[in-house]
Amino acid sequence: MPYAKPLHEQTELTHDARHDKGAVSPPIYQSSLFTFADYDSMIARFRGDSDQPLYSRVDNPTVRELQQKVAQLEGGEACLAFSSGMAAISNAILSVAGPGDKVLCVKHVYPDTYRFLRGFCQRFGITTEFVDGESENEIAEKLPGARLLYLESPGSWVMSEQNLTRLATLARDAGVTTIIDNSWASPLFQKPLSCGIDIVVHSASKYISGHSDVVAGLVIASQHYISQIARHISPFLGGKLSAHEAWLLLRGLRTLPLRMRQHHQSALTLAERLQTHPQIMGVCHPGLNPQPWSTLRGYSGLFAFELAENVDIPSFCNALQLFHMGVSWGGFESLVMPAISVLNQAGEFNSAVDFGVSPRLIRISVGLEETDDLWHDLQQAISAALPS
Ligand SMILES: *Cc1c(COP(=O)(O)O)cnc(C)c1O
Repeated sequence: MPYAKPLHEQTELTHDARHDKGAVSPPIYQSSLFTFADYDSMIARFRGDSDQPLYSRVDNPTVRELQQKVAQLEGGEACLAFSSGMAAISNAILSVAGPGDKVLCVKHVYPDTYRFLRGFCQRFGITTEFVDGESENEIAEKLPGARLLYLESPGSWVMSEQNLTRLATLARDAGVTTIIDNSWASPLFQKPLSCGIDIVVHSASKYISGHSDVVAGLVIASQHYISQIARHISPFLGGKLSAHEAWLLLRGLRTLPLRMRQHHQSALTLAERLQTHPQIMGVCHPGLNPQPWSTLRGYSGLFAFELAENVDIPSFCNALQLFHMGVSWGGFESLVMPAISVLNQAGEFNSAVDFGVSPRLIRISVGLEETDDLWHDLQQAISAALPS
């Protein structure tokens, strides 16, 4: 019998012990295809009169369970899971924009999203204009005639926030579809669909996995948008999630509220302490000067700070002992990444003008280690990087 009282998110995510044969963990349907009991059920499935799984490129019961859980968590009608965040992002964008369409995208967007729009989409006749996500005037001016407004809030380098409620209204009035990359906040700390945004995408490789052992992506939206992707895009691009990885994400979801609470507290504490450190010129964390219109319900563990000129960046990175140098974020382990590494990246995406962040910026992903140990590590690394 369903529980009578509406449950809190943490209970919904944790209490999931109702599977076949009393198993508390869901089965992994490691099967490429699903057979039919008889002729009529096969015909019914092809006619669209049944939803029995057919083939795992398009539907798998373990993946379906993940999709239902995430749709509920984001407050959306439906969800589709993908083999990576970029598969989710490219499928979502291509389901909305086609040849001749104009996309507006915020600056400081995830680098591969930038390259996808700048390079790949351009080849197929989709043009993109990059706009300042904090300038409602600029966006309002450029919306007419656009097909899609792509947001990422907070952004994953300077953590600047966009006013989701306001931008969703402006876009809707102009007949423009909105997509947001909500990876930073996770579905717990921001619910963009409730602000009027049309489509939410996640790199589930970050907080939803939480254990740095899965690369995966998710799209959440109304049934209308999800059907567009499921009918016209995803079966052909084929970027499906495996049943085993869906199971790992279901496992990650059980501890998401606990982990996010710890990331929130620890990162905010470190950001506040860094702000008063004499060798830190500035800290980019949306919790330090909260916007009155902010739709964040909490803060994740990813933020950045600018080191003073007299701190040697290579020495600082090498002196850290608990923060390891690495890309990605959202896992249990603390990571550090100097912006200079991205600014020096070879290829078409290599100018500070395009990326717009200071070469003295350091980004950290605060993991689940004890806050005071992480603080000590940051302090000793700054000291070790000062001129002797
Ligand atoms: C990592 C990341 C992505 C890409 O996700 P993958 O799972 O690596 O494909 C997209 N957006 C943001 C903000 C990210 O951090």
